[in-house]
Amino acid sequence: MRVLVTGGAGYIGSHLADRLLAEGHTVVVVDDLSLGKVANMQHNFENSRFSFVEGDILDARLIGDLVDQCDAIYHLAAVVGVKHVLNDPLQTMITNVWGTGVVLEAAAKSKRRAVLASSSEVYGKGAVPRLDEDDDRVLGTTQVSRWCYSTGKALDEHLALAYHRQKGLPVAIVRYFNSYGPRLDPHGYGSVVAKFINQALDGQPITVHGDGQQSRCFTYIDDTVEGTVLAATVDAANGEVLNIARAEETTIHQLAETVRDATGSSSEITSVPYEAEYGKLFEDTRRRVPAVEKAERVLRFRAQVPLAKGLERTINWFRDKR
Ligand code: UDP
Repeated sequence: MRVLVTGGAGYIGSHLADRLLAEGHTVVVVDDLSLGKVANMQHNFENSRFSFVEGDILDARLIGDLVDQCDAIYHLAAVVGVKHVLNDPLQTMITNVWGTGVVLEAAAKSKRRAVLASSSEVYGKGAVPRLDEDDDRVLGTTQVSRWCYSTGKALDEHLALAYHRQKGLPVAIVRYFNSYGPRLDPHGYGSVVAKFINQALDGQPITVHGDGQQSRCFTYIDDTVEGTVLAATVDAANGEVLNIARAEETTIHQLAETVRDATGSSSEITSVPYEAEYGKLFEDTRRRVPAVEKAERVLRFRAQVPLAKGLERTINWFRDKR
């Protein structure tokens, strides 16, 4: 197949492109390089089945042409990372909502099979024991810019489902839960895993926000990619929303300790008030644990890589890069 990956120079998109190439597909990446990096795909430039188009998903003509030439679309292009969202909520919404509209409209016109990359952020701050795909979304006030990312991704999901129901677009929606692995950008996407690893390797203080008792379920990149590919290929995923996650809950303080131990670092673990990092108008998600049964049932997907193993691989990658 000839496959289009929007955001294919980004952290998840570039790993997805590698996997699709390894499966023998022809891969076209479109990325505006705002967050994506040439370094994430340089190793594919010699591959005749790989091509890269530098462009914006807001460019409807470009996207229309690219979609027409492909059999399937993975739509991952987005502004991501809490810091980016807080710094530029306007661009976050323009790219993530408008841009997704452009991609879905093109996909629906050509009836191409699509996967929409969504996020566990859609659930908001509801601290229920396990987040089921059908659960309510719990968000704070619009004064808190953080929630515009959640709202934008939820609107994307509504768009995808409306195109599916009204225009017959074959589409599956995947909600990622704190994906981590090689190629994370500690400054760009700003994932806590990349930040802690780099702080530990530099011997700098590991900065835990608040009391560190907020929790996440970190999902290794190979599992994230596997779930995404299955969502595109399993027929029963058509029109469905699926958590792509490993249900291994870890508090952020535990993560800091694990990273410090695994790197052999002597960094101290410090507590930083949320306000110092994100300003006054900020709310965090206290607990985020996925229900994984639906992905198991529909996709036969089960995340395989334990946190300790995934962290080891990610630490090795950051070490080698130095
Ligand atoms: N976090 C932290 N220290 C950092 C960066 C992040 O304690 O230097 C916390 C952050 O406040 C949140 C969790 O780690 O509670 C996960 O943050 P991230 O931005 O990776 O993803 P989120 O799940 O919040 O989208």
